[in-house]
Amino acid sequence: MSGVIIVGAGHGGAQAAVVLRQQGYEGTITLIGRESEPPYERPPLSKEYLAKDKAFDRLYIRPPHFWAEKNIDLLLNTEVTAVDAAAQRVVLNTGDALSYDHMIWATGGDPRPLTCPGSGLSGIHAVRTRADVDAIMAALDAPDGVSHVAIVGGGYIGLEAAAVLIKLGKSVTLLEALPRVLARVAGEPLSEFYAAEHRAHGVDLRTGVGVVALTGVDGHVAGVTLADGSTVAADMVIVGIGIIPCVDALIAAGANGANGVLVDAQCRTSLPNIYAIGDCAAHANAFAEDAVIRLESVQNANDQASIAAKTICGQDVSYHATPWFWSNQYDLKLQTVGLSTGFDQAVVRGDPATRSFSVVYLRREKVIALDCVNMVRDYAQGRRLVELGAVVDPMLLADTETPLKTLIPA
Ligand code: FAD
Repeated sequence: MSGVIIVGAGHGGAQAAVVLRQQGYEGTITLIGRESEPPYERPPLSKEYLAKDKAFDRLYIRPPHFWAEKNIDLLLNTEVTAVDAAAQRVVLNTGDALSYDHMIWATGGDPRPLTCPGSGLSGIHAVRTRADVDAIMAALDAPDGVSHVAIVGGGYIGLEAAAVLIKLGKSVTLLEALPRVLARVAGEPLSEFYAAEHRAHGVDLRTGVGVVALTGVDGHVAGVTLADGSTVAADMVIVGIGIIPCVDALIAAGANGANGVLVDAQCRTSLPNIYAIGDCAAHANAFAEDAVIRLESVQNANDQASIAAKTICGQDVSYHATPWFWSNQYDLKLQTVGLSTGFDQAVVRGDPATRSFSVVYLRREKVIALDCVNMVRDYAQGRRLVELGAVVDPMLLADTETPLKTLIPA
C-alpha cells in the first residue's frame, strides 16, 4: 500500500496535495494529471490569458518546482483509465498500475460538445484547458485569420470569451438557446444588464436561438444554422455549453452517482477510501437547501480539497463552505456569494445604469445570495447576510444609503 493518489492535477487536486502536506501527511502523494502542464489556474483562460494580458507562467497554482520540493510526485500526461476499488489500485493509460491507501478523485469535466450535424468540422473550439485556448489564439493569429466568431452558450465562459474577442476586434455573435443569458445562475436583472453591456460593446447577442447545424467549406466551419432557418457566418465557433463530469472510471468501479460522483460531507464516495472533490463531486449543499448539486467554482474545488485532505489526516471536518464566484467582463467585476437557485425575489440595489450595483436574492424572505457588479463593499458586507439566511426588509436591501453591514442581525 502506498499513500494517497490524487487523480486530476487541476484546482482541486493541487489544493488537496498542498493541504495534505500542510497537515503533516508524511506518506507518498502522487498527483496524476492528463494535461502536460503542472497545475494551473483555469479562470484566466477565458479572461486575461485569452486576451494575452497574462502569460501562462503567471497561471501556475504553485511554481513548477514546488511539487518536487514538497515530495509530491507529479505524473503529467498520464490518465487513470480504470479503478479497482477492492484492490485499492488504479490503472494508467501507460498500462502501469498504482496502489493507494486513499484516493482523491479530482478530475473536473470535459466540455460538453455540440452534437448537431457539422460538429466535426475544424474551427470548433472549447475553452477548458490551456491547449484549447492556445488553439484559439493560434487560429486568431494565423495569416488567413478569423473575422467572425460565433459563441454558442451564454454562460460565464461564453460571455467572458465574447468580451475578449470583441476587444481583439473580431465580429462576435453569441447564441444562447434560453430566453436570457446566465439563465441558470442569475436573476433577470443581471442577465439583462450583461446582455445590454455586450450589445453596447458590439456583440450580436441573440437569445432563444437553437443551433441545429454547422456548415463548412473544405472541412472548416463557415456558418451556424439556427432553428428558425437563419444562418450566422462564422469562421470560428466557440462552444461553452457546460461540462460532462469525468467520472466514468469511478462509476464503472461501482461508485454511486450519475451526473458526477456522489459524496458525503467529508467528500467520501460510496467506495472505500475514495474521495471526490471539485467539479465532478455531487454533494448535498446547505446553501441549496441540501439539494444534491455540483458546483463548478474554484471555491468549491479548494474547499472540498481541504475537507478530503483533512479527513484523510484524521480530522473531524465537514463541508459547508459559503459558495462564491467571480467573473470579469470588460471593466466589470462580478462577485457572487451564495447560490441564487430557487430565489423568489430579486432586489436590485443601486442603479444598473451606473454599472455599479448589486442584486440580492431572497427565498421565503431570507437572503440566499448576492450578485455584486463593481460593488466590492456589498459583496464583503452581504456575505454574512447569506451565511445567516437573514430575514431583511427588501426596502432596506434596495436602499443604497443603508450599508448591508447594518442589516446583519445581532
Ligand atoms: P479541474 O481544474 O478541471 O482539474 C481537473 C483535471 O483533471 C484536469 O486537468 C483534467 O484534464 C484532469 N483529468 C480528468 N480526468 C482525468 C483522468 N482520468 N486521469 C488524470 N487526469 C484527469 N471558477 C471560478 O470560481 N471563477 C471563475 O472566474 C472561473 N472561470 C473559469 C473559466 C474557465 C475558462 C473555466 C474552464 C473554468 C472557470 N471556472 C471558474 C471554474 C473553475 O476553473 C473550476 O470549477 C475548477 O477548475 C474545478 O477544479 P477541479 O479540480 O474540479 O477540476
